[in-house]
Amino acid sequence: DVESFSKLEKLAVLGHGNGATIYKVWHCQTASIYALKVLRVDQHTTDVWQQAGQEAEILKRVDSPLIVKCHAVLNSGCIDSDNAGELYFLMEYMEGGSLQDILCIHRKLPEEAISRVARRVLEGLCYLHSTKIVHRDIKPSNLLINSKGELKIADFGVSQVVASTCDPHVSYLGTCAYMSPERFDPERWDGDKEGGFAGDVWSLGIVLLECHVGHFPLISPGETPDWATLMCAICFSDRLEIPETASPEFKSFVSRCLEKDWRARGTVDELLRHPFVNKSSGTKGWFG
Ligand code: ATP
Ligand code: MG
Repeated sequence: DVESFSKLEKLAVLGHGNGATIYKVWHCQTASIYALKVLRVDQHTTDVWQQAGQEAEILKRVDSPLIVKCHAVLNSGCIDSDNAGELYFLMEYMEGGSLQDILCIHRKLPEEAISRVARRVLEGLCYLHSTKIVHRDIKPSNLLINSKGELKIADFGVSQVVASTCDPHVSYLGTCAYMSPERFDPERWDGDKEGGFAGDVWSLGIVLLECHVGHFPLISPGETPDWATLMCAICFSDRLEIPETASPEFKSFVSRCLEKDWRARGTVDELLRHPFVNKSSGTKGWFG
């Protein structure tokens, strides 16, 4: 409740995202550490708060060791002179940071580690999809690692709220990069749920390819494309080539994820049975 939010003590800034800042916070009463995501909502409308409220209900329903727990969502209750307000998401603290942080340090990951990432994300998606939730924002910065080295999916729902408040052509670029072809093109997808689930699988494919090649696979390192260029690359380019050096299992797995036609793409159930995610299933250590 509001009362206990006001008793959170900010210890450090953990990162910045789309209009959001993440703090490491201390909750005195329970002697626990949490992560607090403070999201600035620019066009402050009742719609946004209403949507945030709906998302909060979904977030609280989600309870799985594969998903970063969101304990509470609250709005600041005050609006500044620019008609902007703040939304707070109190989350499980993930000590190990994000897959993005890991890629910044190591650039590439060995296939054994990529296989573990794939398995964890598929299991997480399997849970979300079984509760009829489409994540819609699978990307390295939303895959977080705890102190035990376990990887979990974060930030679904949050992204929906952000999407509704941002200019999609500018602020949302970071997230667009992992979006599937059908999400850009109404002719390819009528919006049904199955297609939504398939979009999460595409995003996973891009993430895994990025872990393998060491940079976002659709653009050259250092390039900063505008929204239209990025969209063309996703929908039409054949630059999603998988390196020759990859194992046959990796190639086969990623090509199933990156099938442009979502109806032909691998489903979560199919991919969970794929040899690529089962070859290292006995070895713990990488991402749980
Ligand atoms: P988006 O708003 O689309 O999710 P983003 O993922 O880039 O964008 P944030 O979600 O704001 O941005 O997160 C920024 C960074 O903060 C993450 O990359 C991660 O390093 C850190 N972070 C986020 N959530 C947590 C958490 N629960 N525990 C620990 N660190 C976190
Ligand atoms: Mg995030």
